[in-house]
Amino acid sequence: MKNHIMCDGLSLQQAVGEAARCHLCHDAPCSKACPAGTDPATFIRKLRLRNIKGAMRTVKQNNCLAGVCGVVCPTEQLCQKACVAAINDRPIDIGGVQRFLVEHAWDIAFNPIERMEKKSGNVAVIGSGPAGIACAVEIAASGYDVTIFDSMEKPGGVLRYGVPSFRLSSEFLDRELEVLDFLGIKLNSGKTIPEGGAEELLKSGFNAIFFAPGTWKPVDLDIPGISLDNVTNARDFLAKNRTDERDSLIRLVKGKNVAVYGGGSVAMDVATSASKLGASKVYVIYRRSLKEMPASKHDFEMALASNVIFKPMSIVQELIGQNGKLVGLKGCETDWKNPDDRTSDNLVKVDGTDFQLKIDLFVSALGYKPEPLSGNVCTKLEFDQKGLIKVKEDGVSTANPAIFAGGDIVRGPALVVEAVADGKNAGRKIIEYLSGRAK
Ligand SMILES: Cc1cc2nc3c(=O)[nH]c(=O)nc-3n(C[C@H](O)[C@H](O)[C@H](O)COP(=O)(O)OP(=O)(O)OC[C@H]3O[C@@H](n4cnc5c(N)ncnc54)[C@H](O)[C@@H]3O)c2cc1C
Repeated sequence: MKNHIMCDGLSLQQAVGEAARCHLCHDAPCSKACPAGTDPATFIRKLRLRNIKGAMRTVKQNNCLAGVCGVVCPTEQLCQKACVAAINDRPIDIGGVQRFLVEHAWDIAFNPIERMEKKSGNVAVIGSGPAGIACAVEIAASGYDVTIFDSMEKPGGVLRYGVPSFRLSSEFLDRELEVLDFLGIKLNSGKTIPEGGAEELLKSGFNAIFFAPGTWKPVDLDIPGISLDNVTNARDFLAKNRTDERDSLIRLVKGKNVAVYGGGSVAMDVATSASKLGASKVYVIYRRSLKEMPASKHDFEMALASNVIFKPMSIVQELIGQNGKLVGLKGCETDWKNPDDRTSDNLVKVDGTDFQLKIDLFVSALGYKPEPLSGNVCTKLEFDQKGLIKVKEDGVSTANPAIFAGGDIVRGPALVVEAVADGKNAGRKIIEYLSGRAK
């Protein structure tokens, strides 16, 4: 639970205690399990030998968002899943140790990031989510000029406007983003790059572009009543919860019944947030069973601990309104046509299981897809059927040699650490591109 809730991190003693439990495996499966190439085997060994600054360098020089990843990464599916200590005991709390090293560096005012001598080259990064930040830092640390453009007022993408603050606080994120100032990265916030905007940026003097706008359009839900008042989506709900619109959200939720539709981690974030905002009852309605629910175990447990009521094997068929305002929903239970096939396509409605719930707010949390605008920001890009950008084998180069892309706009909704991996990868490719251009 620890690495998923913005509680206090590990103390020095606890972090060293975790390091002391490490088996120091020769082949270090934990290090192979991180998409962003974080090397727990090395930083844990250094911490164990009390080379704390060395451990901090290992962590931060690899991943400028190492603290954030220590907090939000589903480590049980990544590095900690591979941890050999789990065979006879619990895995090493790798996320916790990583977070400790980052916070300890703040406490002792130690900055492990270095900037190389200035070079000629100017890069635009579109999107300040984890992919954009990781790319900008990689390039700026190499000495090039970088400007980040983002539609929102503050940087961070989903980290600031999606992940609830009880999991990742704005203060923690702001501390980690101090690296932008340190490296002289310019931030042009509140600036949406419009149709054809990437080409304009290239014409205006930028030598290369990293495009990382994420996937922010909620998946549509086509049922009667969807346009009633007090029907919203996870993106808007979670963003309001992290902006000055929070008070109006509290008024909408406090003492009311809320239904959340979906079974992913985002649905759990909405449900837990609604409960923390004082909802009377919070339902999570999910079409398959709890076993198939895609939410991480931690996020599910967090919702359970917040008294969220789960209605698995159920679908919503209609939202009921009175004078244009939501007052309830109609749903029914589902079952498998073929019990061995647990995919959504194999679900059928069960006759005679219709139910109604009295609700005041409905939040659809069925996932995200790319904004239609993404397709037009740069020309000469290729898209797949879902609207995601097609990249070459290296994972970030596009059909336009000066434009690179990564994060959710390439992978579809994924993980913070995968966005960081793409940002770093793109950063390196852009540096290669810039040095080739200089010859
Ligand atoms: C609610 C929620 C909770 C999550 N929790 C976790 C978690 O606990 N752990 C985890 O690993 N992953 C989590 N994820 C997934 C993770 O946050 C994403 O995979 C990751 O943020 C993707 O990073 P990105 O940089 O590609 O895009 P984003 O974080 O989406 O950032 C994209 C940025 O681009 C900007 N932008 C878009 N279009 C334009 C434009 N035309 N001009 C200028 N700016 C533009 C947007 O304003 C945004 O700031 C969560 C996702 C959500 C939605």
